Amino acid sequence: MLQGFSAELKRLSIFVAICLLLGWLTGHLLLVLDIGVLAYLVYMLWQMSRLNRWLLRKNDEEPPEAAGIWGDVFDNIYHLQRHQRQEKENLQAVINRVQEITSALKDGVILLDWRGHLDFWNPAAQRLLGFHTKDQGLSVINFIRHPRFVSYFEEGNYSEPLELPSPRFSSKQLQFQITRFGKNERLILVRDITQIHNLEQMRQDFIANVSHELRTPLTVISGYLETLADNNNLGPTWQKPLQQMQQQTQRMALLINDLLVLSKLETTEVGHNQKLIPLDPLLHSIRNEAMALSGDKEQEITLSCDGNIQLLGNEKELHSAFSNLVVNAVKYTPAKGKIAMRLWKDKQNCYFAVSDNGPGIENKHIPRLTERFYRVDASRNSSTGGTGLGLAIVKHVLLRHDAELKITSEVGKGSVFTCVFPLH
Ligand code: ADP
Repeated sequence: MLQGFSAELKRLSIFVAICLLLGWLTGHLLLVLDIGVLAYLVYMLWQMSRLNRWLLRKNDEEPPEAAGIWGDVFDNIYHLQRHQRQEKENLQAVINRVQEITSALKDGVILLDWRGHLDFWNPAAQRLLGFHTKDQGLSVINFIRHPRFVSYFEEGNYSEPLELPSPRFSSKQLQFQITRFGKNERLILVRDITQIHNLEQMRQDFIANVSHELRTPLTVISGYLETLADNNNLGPTWQKPLQQMQQQTQRMALLINDLLVLSKLETTEVGHNQKLIPLDPLLHSIRNEAMALSGDKEQEITLSCDGNIQLLGNEKELHSAFSNLVVNAVKYTPAKGKIAMRLWKDKQNCYFAVSDNGPGIENKHIPRLTERFYRVDASRNSSTGGTGLGLAIVKHVLLRHDAELKITSEVGKGSVFTCVFPLH
């Protein structure tokens, strides 16, 4: 650039010197200088028009030859153009590669702009949801109208994926996971989970059927066992085995009952039989049941309720969840121990807590307590007659009520199980 500029300066100085010499020789210095300036201006205009014509040609043609500063201008613009073209090609290659990858994906990928309108989608999304090229720019809610998708999309809490039947093929089950990126744009990943869903359905049906089918033979067995136990002719050698058989059939009945409760929770729609439930009478009846269960253990079971708190929910399910927590406290707290049931609320939530001064639970077990059949101590568990399903039932019921279970415990001091129901 500087080279061209100094060459131009040199050329201009020589030109001015020639003009001055001619002006001096002819005695018309001003006139010759005017003609010189005009000639230089015409030269500049000519170069500018060459530049303009070259730029307008828009092809990869080499720039016109020029000397001085114009040579530099032509060369620099040419290099800039080539650099930009190269950058554009690189970017296009990246875009093509990303498009190739998303086209090869089995999962649907949808990009939405800040308004939630369709911007880009891959062939899998097209196949699963039936988009067409003309749909670009339309709101995604026009295509996935399911009320659960609409509220999931609008609420904006995308921490968990959403599972729904496909809007295009009712036999397919899809999973939607939304992620925010850029300037409030959204990326939706759509997975076909029909197979997993069917397997899960089979598992649920299998457990429900097996539990149901086991009920009748078990009732027959326990009926005969009772008759045998009442039979005085059997002699003392049979007493212990019969007692154990009765205990085990009772355990099996409890287990089957809990399995049926769980499978019912899994198979019935959330919101089934929901109404406003006054919690005070419900908790009083649970306390009475707990006192009956506590029996000889003479535990102190207290209940405190703040005002007349009501919850929108399924009464049977809530009874089952609260009762499981209280029954656990009775089971695991030693004789003469203290159990407190408390109900209160603040601006955001309603709380129901069961605390006891029982053996407590080591911290490492707490995150796993709500897993099915998870037991802190299997031997203690069988002596207390637990099924290992109680807290799994509690967790399921709470999930169905948008609530969560919080557990705090200290070994040797006791445990607190708190159900937190958001008031919205
Ligand atoms: P279970 O039928 O064995 O009681 P749960 O799912 O109700 O099954 O409980 C899981 C485990 O959590 C129990 O086996 C027990 O070890 C522990 N647990 C539950 N409640 C209490 C409690 N109040 N105090 C101490 N341990 C408890």
